[in-house]
Amino acid sequence: MIQIRNLHKYFGELEVLKGVDVNIEEGEVVCIIGASGSGKSTLLRCLNFLETKDKGEIYVDGKLIEKKCRQDVIDLRKKVGMVFQRFNLFPHMTVIQNVMEGPITVRKMPKEEAQELAMELLAKVGLEDKKDQYPAMLSGGQQQRVAIARTLAMQPKVVLFDEPTSALDPELVGEVLTVMKELAKEGMTMAVVTHEMGFAKEVSDRVIFLHEGVITEEGTPEDIFEHPKNERLQGFLSKIL
Ligand code: ADP
Ligand code: MG
Repeated sequence: MIQIRNLHKYFGELEVLKGVDVNIEEGEVVCIIGASGSGKSTLLRCLNFLETKDKGEIYVDGKLIEKKCRQDVIDLRKKVGMVFQRFNLFPHMTVIQNVMEGPITVRKMPKEEAQELAMELLAKVGLEDKKDQYPAMLSGGQQQRVAIARTLAMQPKVVLFDEPTSALDPELVGEVLTVMKELAKEGMTMAVVTHEMGFAKEVSDRVIFLHEGVITEEGTPEDIFEHPKNERLQGFLSKIL
């Protein structure tokens, strides 16, 4: 579903991604771990044209992605959804309006159909009863579940999650992870940047450790958490586990 070849990204003089290669197969859940500043967000953002790569190739669904015009960005974002640490819901729209917005404006879906889809997705994230509330009325966990429903409403082929639970109070983390686990079980292709090592162990097919812009180790959750080889990875895990 995603192939990244020799990806380089600079911010001025700073080389943030130093030749990253990643493959993500259809239906695979890949967790990306690493210290703050190692380039995790930048890696995801390059996959969604929120950042522009400086070198390398990215293929999504077999197609080389390139940003030549506005339409390329729209086409890519239909395929690659993203969920952020901060939920970024539209504050002046109700929950259901937030979920319907993308299908109507980007996918040109008829309103009734978009409404039906939105209700289905709100049921999936357990928030049917909140459909007419405004985001400010919801807890952080509920807002993030709406954000997930909104991303799914675009019917993406891959969903990228950038620390989706980091901004939440501890007691709200579980409900968001539960929704993500469900999604993984249904076969969604997912790339997840997370500090939730329990989730990474339980749900991911593969874990990638990014250190200073380089994939330093990669393997099954068991390889990474039980038998880490790289010293940096061992150090990182000893600090967070
Ligand atoms: P992570 O998500 O792993 O914490 P990031 O990808 O956010 O890391 O950042 C990697 C490095 O790139 C950091 O040193 C950060 O300060 C820098 N960086 C990220 N975004 C920008 C930007 N827009 N402009 C300049 N530097 C940036
Ligand atoms: Mg980040």
